[in-house]
Amino acid sequence: MGKTERSRAATWRKSMLAAGIALLAAAGIAGCGAERTAGDADGKVRVTTTIGQITDLVERIGGEHVEVAGIMPSGVDPHLYKATQGDIAKFERADIIFYNGLHLEGKMTEVFEEMAELKPTIPVAEAVDPAMLIPVSENGAQGYDPHIWFDVKLWMQAAEQVRDELAKLDPERAASYEANAEAYLKELEALDAYVREQVATIPERQRVLVTAHDAFGYFGKAYGIEVRGLQGISTAAEAGSKDVTDLRDYLIERGIKAVFVESSVSSRAITAVIEGAKKLGHDIREGGMLYSDAMGEAGTEEGTYVGMVRHNVDTIVAALK
Ligand code: ZN
Repeated sequence: MGKTERSRAATWRKSMLAAGIALLAAAGIAGCGAERTAGDADGKVRVTTTIGQITDLVERIGGEHVEVAGIMPSGVDPHLYKATQGDIAKFERADIIFYNGLHLEGKMTEVFEEMAELKPTIPVAEAVDPAMLIPVSENGAQGYDPHIWFDVKLWMQAAEQVRDELAKLDPERAASYEANAEAYLKELEALDAYVREQVATIPERQRVLVTAHDAFGYFGKAYGIEVRGLQGISTAAEAGSKDVTDLRDYLIERGIKAVFVESSVSSRAITAVIEGAKKLGHDIREGGMLYSDAMGEAGTEEGTYVGMVRHNVDTIVAALK
């Protein structure tokens, strides 16, 4: 984007945002956002988040002192998600915003830029040690793979950042955030060990994870599984027929017996790959559904980060063993 384009886009964004806020104010919903300070009203820090993984993380570390509004429900694809007027109201009301960053929420960049001028707006993945990030290039642009929650150790770094940011905003309860984080980090440590143990039970030559989009790079790197996605790092570009035939040939060549669908991505293209391989006489099946960019329904085991990771690893092990 050129400089003029960028400033034109910025002006457009400002006016769109202003229009949205004016609408909400007229409806009597907004009007309390920017002036709010942490700990007033019901005494809770108001947090607005994007993906379920971050919503869960903030709830665990904030505990009773936070009220978290996550904008992306179960099954939503964050790469394609556009903020609604209701979401903008939630961002406006927040004392602090946590999102993933590294361009995961690819259609919401402008909203975060606007909000960053008003309040702490924290991309948790961008605090991770850059040496641990996976560089990617998509459509000629250089960046990093945003799906950091697939390596539990990286997610622990995100947890530390949430702890530190909440403590900075609300220093009176810093000890509470510290204690919650300590307990949660222990749980994550145990989860990381569980994933390692489970993956080790898959015969080495079977350790290939084929999914609908390239979300599992960190999982593969951390736990020693070769990964391959039909679509790229983002789901914004759809798989073409060449992608389908290339993946089909790869499955046959490698003798892979199972591929996986994702809860937040259409299974149509991956089904086409399975059908294509079967037509050529290759015995292959769907290995089950994985939670990649979205978690399960709130209130279920898979609606938590720990439950989601366990579900994924159990499903992968059952299908590949
Ligand atoms: Zn993704």
